[in-house]
Amino acid sequence: MNLARFPRVRLAHLPTPLEPMPRLTKALNGPELWIKRDDCTGLSTGGNKTRKLEYLMAEAMEQGADIVLTQGATQSNHARQTAAAAAKLGLDCHILLEDRTGYNHENYKFNGNVLLDVLHGASIEHRGPGLDMNAEMEAVAETMRGEGRNAYAIPGGGSNATGALGYVNCAFEMLAQFNDMGLLVDHIVHATGSAGTQAGLITGLKAMNADIPLLGIGVRAPKDKQEANVFALAEKTAEKLGCPGVVKREDVVANTDYVGEGYGLPAPSTLEAIDIFARTEGILLDPVYSAKGAAGLIDLIRKGHFRKDERVVFLHTGGAIGLTGYTHVFDVKDRA
Ligand SMILES: *Cc1c(COP(=O)(O)O)cnc(C)c1O
Repeated sequence: MNLARFPRVRLAHLPTPLEPMPRLTKALNGPELWIKRDDCTGLSTGGNKTRKLEYLMAEAMEQGADIVLTQGATQSNHARQTAAAAAKLGLDCHILLEDRTGYNHENYKFNGNVLLDVLHGASIEHRGPGLDMNAEMEAVAETMRGEGRNAYAIPGGGSNATGALGYVNCAFEMLAQFNDMGLLVDHIVHATGSAGTQAGLITGLKAMNADIPLLGIGVRAPKDKQEANVFALAEKTAEKLGCPGVVKREDVVANTDYVGEGYGLPAPSTLEAIDIFARTEGILLDPVYSAKGAAGLIDLIRKGHFRKDERVVFLHTGGAIGLTGYTHVFDVKDRA
């Protein structure tokens, strides 16, 4: 097991801070809450995809790519961070955006992540909902190759074994921080979507033999499917890392009770989580991922899932720039 042998380009500001959340802890009257600030990875307003892109973009460069392609929902944080990484490395970037929510609001379609995709110089094309977006992207990449381009396709969310190495790295980074600070951590909680974050984290934690349960709060798929996706990717990641079989099926735990109506559609608990974090800690969450993760954390605390003498780290995966694409879900005009 040797993470350093994989090609990597430095894109993120690391290590990201690990901070206590005393006012949120007090407000919820539950376990001691800390936050790992992967919303502060730095690249074009930051977020979790930057860690994955350190390994993915290195592979693209190694293969001599002149253009990278990726895909995601309209307000994809992953697409935005890919566009920024490509700009920084002097590669072209082409993005396929899927209309996954049906929202027709001006800000949703053109503000937030979409604005930044454009500013970073990415070209964009659109797809309706329900297609196999990785297949759509591969077809576009093939056409480009036929035209003489060296196209490198990055799957949705950057979630393959190469991208997941970024979260193996994050697991190592957190364990070093816990050790340096003398912090005993009982649980780590985060939002899980395309599975790379959870797969990388669990592989890193198990490879280090760390006995800290990891809980992914789902944003899209039902529990069985989410856990199966994460486990399959964790197995591939462990194999790539040189420690096959280190992750057991029961190490992969997802709770998908906080999805609400669907991907990208904030539930009342999502909006409440945004409110609580913003008012107690001055921390911005996003309505698609981190606030659904936080809604799960908050509800599980209220239900007594964590003991009061435990310490829980919430991994903030970023995305707050997406708030400006979701102005229609907040009653700003009534209050400002
Ligand atoms: C992509 C994303 C996630 C989910 O990470 P996966 O690796 O796709 O599971 C969580 N939070 C934010 C803000 C994201 O953009």
